[in-house]
Amino acid sequence: MRSPPLNIQESVLLRQRCWYQTGGEARYFGRPGSLEELQQQVDWGNAAGFPLFLMGHGSNVLFADDGFDGLVICTTGLKATEVVEPGVIEVEAGFQLEKLVDQANKLGWQGLESFPGIPGTIGGAVWGNAGAGGEDIGDRVSEVLLLEPGQGREWVDSRDLDWRYRYSGIEDRVVAAVRLRLNEGSDPQELKRRTAEVEKRKRDTQPFALRSCGCIFRNPPGQSAGALIEKSGLKGTTLGGARVSIEHANFIVNEGGATSRDIEQLIERIRSHVKKLYSVDLEREVIMPGHRGGGRS
Ligand SMILES: Cc1cc2nc3c(=O)[nH]c(=O)nc-3n(C[C@H](O)[C@H](O)[C@H](O)COP(=O)(O)OP(=O)(O)OC[C@H]3O[C@@H](n4cnc5c(N)ncnc54)[C@H](O)[C@@H]3O)c2cc1C
Repeated sequence: MRSPPLNIQESVLLRQRCWYQTGGEARYFGRPGSLEELQQQVDWGNAAGFPLFLMGHGSNVLFADDGFDGLVICTTGLKATEVVEPGVIEVEAGFQLEKLVDQANKLGWQGLESFPGIPGTIGGAVWGNAGAGGEDIGDRVSEVLLLEPGQGREWVDSRDLDWRYRYSGIEDRVVAAVRLRLNEGSDPQELKRRTAEVEKRKRDTQPFALRSCGCIFRNPPGQSAGALIEKSGLKGTTLGGARVSIEHANFIVNEGGATSRDIEQLIERIRSHVKKLYSVDLEREVIMPGHRGGGRS
């Protein structure tokens, strides 16, 4: 095996890198500072035969307590932005979504006001087609720069992706950068006011002071996962250091010292309880790398 390229470390504790603050060690952990370095790291991991996991801020991820026996690449060092033409902004994958909302508001570019209070990167948001207030980020994307191991990168038209509820069709490809098309000519103060309103509503109804991954489950068609969990009486239930949030039943919070296993067991408890009471199979939204059957790995 060739020695790792620049900016890859061995044995890195994932709980120190993800939003939930749980999880064991990654065998290798890369944090590229440029798109070229991202490509080198992906190609190196691929040539060495390691499972690859891409992360941004890890705000929709529950890493296993046993860690990840492969290469985790974190994009937060990739944060260049450029206005390409009026209404079109290009952003590298690791740019923070909240900062992007602020930037668009300042330019008077309408279209991102529903997305404050999501503590992720644009790469993570696009990969999972993040949504809020009935809007999906995919509706604002015009092109995505996708990278594949050993194959370089190319700009893909948004219309060639498979946008659905919390799904983009990007799957195992890597989001290197994104171009968004927004509507010019709005009043920055008005956009700021609307964004603040959305953010306040979120802060009033979601557990912002504690670590979580946002919604644990997807909404089943025509229903709200949170409402089902609340109706089932599980709000406030604890397991080890994890609790079904009092503020929002579709959040499980780390009250301090939770293990990923605590959270995973609470997820299973909710799932079987809701299934028993309402015959509804709740599907996980949180990504669980390193867990058996846990999603992307
Ligand atoms: C308090 C709170 C509120 C939230 N509110 C919302 C909300 O309103 N709406 C919503 O949709 N989500 C919400 N979330 C969940 C989460 O913040 C979003 O899904 C966010 O977009 C994830 O971004 P991230 O950078 O943290 O991605 P990560 O959690 O690091 O990764 C998520 C997934 O994206 C993949 N990924 C990340 N970056 C890349 C890349 N560059 N290339 C390829 N794949 C990549 C990962 O492999 C993983 O499968 C919330 C979370 C929290 C903690």
